Amino acid sequence: MSGLRDLPQVDEVLRDVLALNDVGPLVARWLVRREVAAARARALNGGEAGDVRAIVQAAAEQLQAARIRRVINATGVVIHTNLGRAALGEEAVAAAVEAAGTAALEFDLVTGARGTRAPVASTLAAALTEAEDALIVNNNAAALLLTLAALAKGQEVIVSRGELIEIGGEFRLPDVMEASGALLREVGTTNRTHERDYRRAAGDGTALILKVHPSNYQIVGFTTSVGVADLAAIAKEARVPLLFDIGSGLLGPEEGVLSDEPDARSALAQGADLVSFSGDKLLGGPQAGILAGRADLIERCRRHPIARAVRADKLTLAAMEATLWAHARGARDHIPAWSMLQATAEEIRARAKRVSEGISGVSVIDGASVTGGGSLPGRSVETALIAVHSDKPQVLAKRLREKEPPIVARIERGLLVLDLRTVAPADDVALRAALQSL
Ligand SMILES: *Cc1c(COP(=O)(O)O)cnc(C)c1O
Repeated sequence: MSGLRDLPQVDEVLRDVLALNDVGPLVARWLVRREVAAARARALNGGEAGDVRAIVQAAAEQLQAARIRRVINATGVVIHTNLGRAALGEEAVAAAVEAAGTAALEFDLVTGARGTRAPVASTLAAALTEAEDALIVNNNAAALLLTLAALAKGQEVIVSRGELIEIGGEFRLPDVMEASGALLREVGTTNRTHERDYRRAAGDGTALILKVHPSNYQIVGFTTSVGVADLAAIAKEARVPLLFDIGSGLLGPEEGVLSDEPDARSALAQGADLVSFSGDKLLGGPQAGILAGRADLIERCRRHPIARAVRADKLTLAAMEATLWAHARGARDHIPAWSMLQATAEEIRARAKRVSEGISGVSVIDGASVTGGGSLPGRSVETALIAVHSDKPQVLAKRLREKEPPIVARIERGLLVLDLRTVAPADDVALRAALQSL
């Protein structure tokens, strides 16, 4: 137990930490207390207390270094959840910055009174999905929670067993349903759910039929699921609404690699009463959840107390407004996620050659980018990769992460590779400089 006697006094360590770090007195004291307690626990367990001063210094430095920082995403994953999902376009960033000060959020500049109109972003979301109305909340999980609580509390919601999804480890559909107070009524099997399964389950206790896009996995082989139009017919017979969680936020149908993704406009046209989707996946906007569809159902959701708890903040609404205007005006090249997905492998190859020209140990090879963020599982887009030849790809990847701004690459078959699809062209110069310095 000699370690215990060697433990420094809180005040002594505090003085040293404050002299060396700009973390302020409360944060410093909190870190010191935490580390002294941890050291005491180690000593009591017969271990080494360690150099508490050094540990606290390191913790203080780490806390300051761990701030949310801009990074260059060279992974080729367009919607990278760990890198903040969709990168906002210039107009969306400017709108969020403008709203960050005082802004007319719920204020009518004509009358000078409290404004009662819906945010522009929700009007645009309704128009672009051809819905009667739309509501914007904190994220898609919140949109689901709110809708289930407002429309189905204490009643049954019918869902196919093939669609009981988990996303990112935290969002599990059965858990969201339980939290909302709605009762899960599973139908069908993992791989096959038929119309008759839904029909048999629908009854007096049913409040809602829910269809969920299996956005991050595929069920292949012997499979059946019921399409939106057929489900809408069943919902109509049962006199309950159909909610379709389409996940990624395509507003309308797309061609090419995105053609397999469900979209809000088609889902509503095919008879879904409501659709819900994320704002920061393929829509290319800020984190948000959008609920669009029948006005009476949206109104019930809007008036529910949970709506207040999950409402979007002004930065989100401003960035969403700008993002949706870009969609409305057909200016999708202003939305980074779209520009990234639209770029051809040839364009990326040309950039990759320019960035890596004359640098030894580096070549341009064929590869694949993915959309990520719970969209298009199993699908990829052809790309060109800058490959760095080295027997220590991990070491080089770490050195890239130490750059300013940090560069996040990926390691594939023992090679360190960088995919310019997800790098803003303005960052090509920084990338070239980083590669030269390796
Ligand atoms: C991503 C996703 C969610 C969760 O959306 P968040 O905006 O992250 O809350 C829910 N459902 C589906 C189908 C998704 O793809």
